[in-house]
Amino acid sequence: MRKCIGFFGGTFDPIHLGHLRLALELKQQLALDEMWLLPCYIPPHRASPAVDAQQRLTMLQLAVRDCAELRWDARELQREKPSYTYDTLRELRAEFGADVSLSWCMGMDSFVTLDSWHRWQELIGLAHLVVVARPGWEVPVVGPVAELIVQHRADASDIHSTPAGSLAILEQRLLPISATEIRTQIQVGESPQFLMPDAVWSYIRAQGLYR
Ligand code: ATP
Repeated sequence: MRKCIGFFGGTFDPIHLGHLRLALELKQQLALDEMWLLPCYIPPHRASPAVDAQQRLTMLQLAVRDCAELRWDARELQREKPSYTYDTLRELRAEFGADVSLSWCMGMDSFVTLDSWHRWQELIGLAHLVVVARPGWEVPVVGPVAELIVQHRADASDIHSTPAGSLAILEQRLLPISATEIRTQIQVGESPQFLMPDAVWSYIRAQGLYR
């Protein structure tokens, strides 16, 4: 059977249970052999003050430490410049080979901006796109992204038949947790405990992050 690998990118600033549950559920639902979380580079002017890329990576590593199902990959942080998904997928395709099924997973909030991404029309030739509906975000019905949906929409199970080329839109249950809200809670002195793994919250406190 064709090997199937999923990738879930994000700023993970900080990683929380919403991200982790979604990654795990996608791995199970899509019957992926591997699921990788990839923190993206954030330009210094957009980064949270006093939280650097290494700290975001450490939080991710702590979060998946006891989860054999989820892995992390720091390649986009190591580039130290804005990372294009196109470049990442080219690298991954070269590493995993032409036959392996690669799925790039994202929330609808990311997907609706796809036509502003570098070489966006070539992404679907490198991987399947798996899009998860998010409350407040409609499936585009007009414009270039809507056309991509018309051309490539397929059942999620199709990711097992080909290495790339399908676009699956899934209705997944999402935990109502937001990284922005977590940062605000910490800033105003409230506790975000139980919204993230305990190890991540302990690290945030020990390092004094997001104050
Ligand atoms: P913010 O809350 O500040 O918008 P975020 O968590 O959405 O942050 P990212 O870390 O970039 O920002 O999110 C990475 C991916 O995780 C995105 O594709 C986003 O759609 C998805 N995501 C974000 N929050 C959740 C959640 N609660 N449940 C499932 N997926 C989520």
